[in-house]
Amino acid sequence: MSEDIPYAEPFKIKMVEPVFRSTRDERTQWIKDAHYNLFNLSSRQVMIDLLTDSGTGAMSDRQWSALMQGDESYAGAVSYDRLKKTIREITGFEYFLPTHQGRAAENVLFSTLVKEGDVVPGNTHFDTTKGHIEYRKATVVDCTIDEAFQAGLEHPFKGNADPEKLEKVIRKTPAGKIPFIIMTLTCNSAGGQPVSMKNLREISALAKQNSIPLIIDGARFAENAWFIRQREPGYHETDIREIVLEMFSYADGMTMSSKKDGLVNIGGFIGMRSEEIFRAASVFNIMFEGFITYGGMAGRDMDALAQGLHESTEEHYLEYRIRQVALLGKMLTDAGIPVIRPYGGHAIFVDALSFLPHIPRETFPAQTLAVELYIEGGIRSAEIGTLMADRDPVTRENRYPAMELLRLAIPRRVYTDNHMRVVAAALKNLWERRNQIQHGLKILNEAPILRHFTVELERIENEHNPR
Ligand SMILES: *Cc1c(COP(=O)(O)O)cnc(C)c1O
Repeated sequence: MSEDIPYAEPFKIKMVEPVFRSTRDERTQWIKDAHYNLFNLSSRQVMIDLLTDSGTGAMSDRQWSALMQGDESYAGAVSYDRLKKTIREITGFEYFLPTHQGRAAENVLFSTLVKEGDVVPGNTHFDTTKGHIEYRKATVVDCTIDEAFQAGLEHPFKGNADPEKLEKVIRKTPAGKIPFIIMTLTCNSAGGQPVSMKNLREISALAKQNSIPLIIDGARFAENAWFIRQREPGYHETDIREIVLEMFSYADGMTMSSKKDGLVNIGGFIGMRSEEIFRAASVFNIMFEGFITYGGMAGRDMDALAQGLHESTEEHYLEYRIRQVALLGKMLTDAGIPVIRPYGGHAIFVDALSFLPHIPRETFPAQTLAVELYIEGGIRSAEIGTLMADRDPVTRENRYPAMELLRLAIPRRVYTDNHMRVVAAALKNLWERRNQIQHGLKILNEAPILRHFTVELERIENEHNPR
């Protein structure tokens, strides 16, 4: 009987970067000096960095060679033409504007479309999307399906929006006050969960009936397409590029953070079908970003992005990508560690409330777990919990979100499966001695908003557990 051939990454490595090794004693001191805030660590104090998948991916040899062909002309650079052609081929959008990253695309497009008093419904809006809408004194309404908020529930498309919730919003909002519906693919804030084609079709039909444009926040559009192929009946044999084109065919425009599925370290863009919107947005692009043929990007970066968009929509790349995230998820699940199901496209989320149920929420269980994981394995993760949720702007009390999560976001093409095994082993060690993690953290200093970036904490020691 022949043996199954194990899976191997669809690339080989041409250039390497050292991982800075450290001891537990060093890390114990460093995290104390960093006031138990992982954002304050130097990257040299981190062995495996899973803080974010944004702008942290590795470029291919083809992207590096595309970079050398960049045209740095102020106007009419051929790099712009090449990127425009690629965006048209892959997304179908005729018009495009380059921006320096995703939030800049939001800033430019929303300057064009969003007015005070407007309402922008969709599945869970990403923080910067929400920020750019609220900054214009408009509001967002989260219409994600209820299933998305049940951590352990298996559902293939937890990023879907609920058409009934959307219809209710449309019915009770005065005509003309909904500038667009926005769908985020995959839904980052719901745990990197995908949106189905069927859902996009339904939302698009609803939008059309009500003459409301549909915009896609496409940061992880390729990962979304992979999930459609894997999970949605009728798409198992369909080419990824065809799936991508169909997804975008339901939308009137898109914003993109190229730092995710663009496979580059910085960049973004807006894709549009309407020449009128393109003309109006061009004015803001020139004001905020740069002339319309570079908009905050170097010519060489536009060439690297064009190549990146081709690579991120390749089947072998996506198989590798989604499989690696799922491998980490499976190793944790097999060890009995509570994680959000199904596994997301770019990250695994550990349920810190089940991991450390004895740590009171006012002492930040997810952050406590992040600190312990750093000391255990030199692994940097992110807290998505009470610290990040900030205080209520009126009462100044902590806001306790539905879940207290530790996010392990996996950079694209950077770490091998062996690195994932190290992460799993470190978490398993913590899981086995979770009862010895007795105390949480308390705040010494915090900013009035977005406190998690700069907060200073200390360990609660030799104090009785408040519970
Ligand atoms: C990262 C991200 C953005 C913002 O993009 P930046 O490039 O970080 O400015 C917007 N939407 C989603 C879904 C994202 O993941």
